[in-house]
Amino acid sequence: MIKRYPTKKIFVGDVAVGGDAPISVQSMTFSKTRDVEATVEQIKRLHFAGCDIVRVAVPDYEDAYALKEIKENISLPLVADIHFNYRLALIAAEVVDCIRINPGNIGNKERVKEVVKACKERNIPIRIGVNCGSLEDQFEKKHGQSAKGMVESALYNIKYLEDLDFTNIKISLKASDVQRTVEAYRSLRPLVEYPFHLGVTEAGTLFHSTVKSSIALGTLLLEGIGDTMRVSITGELEKEIEVARAILKDSGAANSGVNIVSCPTCGRLESDLVKMVEKVEELTKDIKKPLNLSVMGCVVNAIGEAKSADVAIAFGKGSGLVMKKGEIVAKLSEDKLLDRFMQEVQKAVEEMD
Ligand code: SF4
Repeated sequence: MIKRYPTKKIFVGDVAVGGDAPISVQSMTFSKTRDVEATVEQIKRLHFAGCDIVRVAVPDYEDAYALKEIKENISLPLVADIHFNYRLALIAAEVVDCIRINPGNIGNKERVKEVVKACKERNIPIRIGVNCGSLEDQFEKKHGQSAKGMVESALYNIKYLEDLDFTNIKISLKASDVQRTVEAYRSLRPLVEYPFHLGVTEAGTLFHSTVKSSIALGTLLLEGIGDTMRVSITGELEKEIEVARAILKDSGAANSGVNIVSCPTCGRLESDLVKMVEKVEELTKDIKKPLNLSVMGCVVNAIGEAKSADVAIAFGKGSGLVMKKGEIVAKLSEDKLLDRFMQEVQKAVEEMD
């Protein structure tokens, strides 16, 4: 099991972030926040997909005033994403569960003081969201858009809040590439105790974001870094959650959901394995229990893989095997294999209750 860096536990609504809390998954709506109906609909989709915390952009007063109605119609913790305008933060702080704002961008200590006072009154955290593309001038001039610049910006913003006796903080350090993202989080981790929100920003479409996020977030998670995370994808909302959950599961940072081992196929294949694996994926996608399944094209490697699988299936020429914990439980014609395999999967799930 991965040993996580000890961090301070904070709460975003009823979701704990940091300390011994499970690593939560976040996402962000893309509707105009002032369009309450569309925003609530997107938040509900995200909730259904397994999102823990949702963020909305608040660029204007109309968006800020819409937050109350949005909050009344959802049950996920809500984060307001605000830049520059402290008045928007003050309106949002009356309603939401967390504010994402960079104190250094507000420009005046008195204004930051007011935002901090509002957050203290409702006991809601502030996320300092450092982004490589929008570093404060002094850090960009000194270090360019580098990991070092991001770390200095984070420390500067943290001090801003600590000087006001505010420590209900989480931090993100996002760049649009893997190396700077990993370097920034790694460098800051030993210097502060606040929980980290992981992410690669503007990571691209499903394919590119999945690759970048898997490398960056996977690397950090394996080093015990990260308390909450967002995979940002140009595309469908639900995919962000699906990919984030898969990264958590496959890095070993979360022990839930189905892990499917399937072979790449080769000239020995006598069945339509691709279709079968897709069917197994579809039939098992809602299982939350940590289940290892193996779906293989022939017996060459299937017997070995089956030993570390809860339930396994090996196809052959017109027939195949179903195995449980490495033991053969049935040899059946191909048309009956999937049904029997799913019966064993169901049994395995029930045995874990
Ligand atoms: Fe080929 Fe069989 Fe290995 Fe699949 S399990 S790649 S079909 S040898």
